[in-house]
Amino acid sequence: MSKKKVVIIGSGIGGSGVGALLAHSGNYEVSLYERNKLIGGRFASYEKDGFKFDIGCHLIANCDKGALGRILTLVGHPDWVEWHYAVKPAPGINFKGKRVRFPKEIDGLGLPPEEVGKIMEFYNRALSIPEEEYDAWDKRSVYSLLQEYTKNETVRSVFSLLNRIFFVISDQETPVGEYVRCTKQMLSTRSNGYPAGGTGSVPEAYVKSIKTDGGQVFLNTPIKQIAVENGEAKGIILENGKKVEADIVISNAGNRPTVDFLVGRKHYRPEVLARLDKYEYSGCFSMIKIALDQPISDEKMVMYIGRDDMSVLDEERRAGIIPEVLTDVMAPVISNLDPKACPEGRQLIIAGGGTYPTPEKPDSAWFKKLETSLFNAVKIIYPGIEKHIMWTNFTASREIDNLFGEGGNIVGISQKIGQVGPDRPFLVDPCVKNLYHCSADSGVHGIGGELAADSALRLFELLESK
Ligand SMILES: Cc1cc2nc3c(=O)[nH]c(=O)nc-3n(C[C@H](O)[C@H](O)[C@H](O)COP(=O)(O)OP(=O)(O)OC[C@H]3O[C@@H](n4cnc5c(N)ncnc54)[C@H](O)[C@@H]3O)c2cc1C
Repeated sequence: MSKKKVVIIGSGIGGSGVGALLAHSGNYEVSLYERNKLIGGRFASYEKDGFKFDIGCHLIANCDKGALGRILTLVGHPDWVEWHYAVKPAPGINFKGKRVRFPKEIDGLGLPPEEVGKIMEFYNRALSIPEEEYDAWDKRSVYSLLQEYTKNETVRSVFSLLNRIFFVISDQETPVGEYVRCTKQMLSTRSNGYPAGGTGSVPEAYVKSIKTDGGQVFLNTPIKQIAVENGEAKGIILENGKKVEADIVISNAGNRPTVDFLVGRKHYRPEVLARLDKYEYSGCFSMIKIALDQPISDEKMVMYIGRDDMSVLDEERRAGIIPEVLTDVMAPVISNLDPKACPEGRQLIIAGGGTYPTPEKPDSAWFKKLETSLFNAVKIIYPGIEKHIMWTNFTASREIDNLFGEGGNIVGISQKIGQVGPDRPFLVDPCVKNLYHCSADSGVHGIGGELAADSALRLFELLESK
């Protein structure tokens, strides 16, 4: 039987992941086109002065035991990525300048004993929700469930931090079902961590697998358009006008950019466009990468809570006020997770935070304020850091936007209430035959990159079942 010709637009986790799976099945002739010179989209990594950086990521949920690792196992190369778990020390919280290890140092939050009991009651309730009820619970927010147990603002600050870090949305937007599903998986696998060589090593391994299985990968090759004839995808058009014919087209560019720019809205029914236009993206992060002349910390992953005046914070966030010191910051010591991430004797720390509503036309002063606010948090997390800085590199959401579009967001279409489970964007294009969507947008479950890998696994299963 002749192989089906598949073209994939984009080498993010979704695109490279599904490409690896399809090429390995032996049923498809895979060609992948990426517009950037780096492989991996938001998961890509690059090198500067012997330091290895990621475009985005900080920590990967479930590593080899989750969706990202499952793709490698299915293509027969589980060892092509070496995972380093974030253990000894485990990820912890810095609460207003004080390191608090959970759960044994929960007293460090300064909570009265009855509040500690209420946290336990909340967890017992949430984690006992049976899987078949998750969809129903997805209509309620983590915030609203927590309020049934406690209205203590310090307790809320912890859950708010976790929701902002997992899903880059607020606790008032996070659905209970998805939060519980992801939390339970992480508690059972106990394998959050980081891949050796940077996050880019994951999509690079997928791309290597595509090539090993006879597929082709083209970098620096932007796709101008998806060729649609009589409601059917027939291939892609390159920037130079050349058409590449295909039986199946898969877009990793995100549902909305694919519809708006690669296919064209004229091919879609109004109700499909209305549904797509209603989706909201996750929040944005800004990041500061800090190269140090010597190691200053043994930590692997620190999450910083600078404030627990939650009602005031809610108001400030709504108004887009950037505080003096940013709160809800992730600050891993990347070179403690992966010693090869920097030259010997040095250290690499990355801090990220944000999710502020970005003004319509943010100017340099706005971004400078965000950078200062983020760096002020870093100085509290890692006291004395200023004395050892070789250089810093600030990446704002506008840089992410320039590279990948979609408003500089972190995850893709967010997992807020009304956008999870059966309400996720489509995997199978509803108006264009033989066109499929594969990215974090069309993934159903998981955190960050896992959502994109989930999309790849689902699409592979669907195509194989046809
Ligand atoms: C700052 C930041 C921090 C993050 N932190 C974490 C974290 O700690 N843990 C975690 O798991 N996840 C994290 N994420 C999220 C994670 O990186 C993304 O959810 C995931 O990588 C998205 O993958 P994707 O498959 O949707 O594709 P994307 O990464 O969006 O890639 C899409 C690819 O398609 C290409 N493309 C688009 N249009 C075209 C075209 N016309 N022609 C050719 N190519 C095209 C793009 O160049 C890109 O390479 C973070 C993201 C960012 C930005």
